[in-house]
Amino acid sequence: MGMFDYSIVTHNGKVFFNNWIEWQEINLPTEPKWFRIIIQGILSFFGHCGECIAIGGCYFVDRNMPEQPLHPKCHCGKLSIAIDKVSANINANCPLEKFINYIFTDDTKSKGKKSLFESLGYTRENSMQLKFDYENQAREQYLKGLYELDTLDEYGQRINIEIDLNGHKILSGWMLEPKGKIRNITPFGGWAI
Ligand SMILES: [Zn+2]
Repeated sequence: MGMFDYSIVTHNGKVFFNNWIEWQEINLPTEPKWFRIIIQGILSFFGHCGECIAIGGCYFVDRNMPEQPLHPKCHCGKLSIAIDKVSANINANCPLEKFINYIFTDDTKSKGKKSLFESLGYTRENSMQLKFDYENQAREQYLKGLYELDTLDEYGQRINIEIDLNGHKILSGWMLEPKGKIRNITPFGGWAI
């Protein structure tokens, strides 16, 4: 057990109980990645549901996960995982390119986000710091079960996570990957309410 017990979390005056589960697509190995990709291809060829295949092995808190069964003839299950294992595995990856090759290019390419980030006090020189801030905050929020489900399709489950940028709360978009990994896809998805 780490410094905090993340199984009970309070947020905005509400109490949340976190029981973690791993989504189980019964035929799908979660590792290694190359083998998983091959099996995903075979399963989808035989008509298995693309959404279930995409989220097999991903971690959710049971109060905030896609419904089971997800579709008719869905054979997916869920496996409880201990919070220490979740805590050891959960990791957030925010590619540096999101900032240097997108946000801080120009306002045309970034759809106005360069000006927006500058108004929050960041420039291109802060790209590395932003990457680490995003990764640390997202890991912490995800571990607390404080995320909202967004679109689920054959590419995977997207979630939104609140990030604090110099006191301004924004929503960032992430893709779930197996075994507690999340990868940033949208640095700025709107203001958090
Ligand atoms: Zn299924």
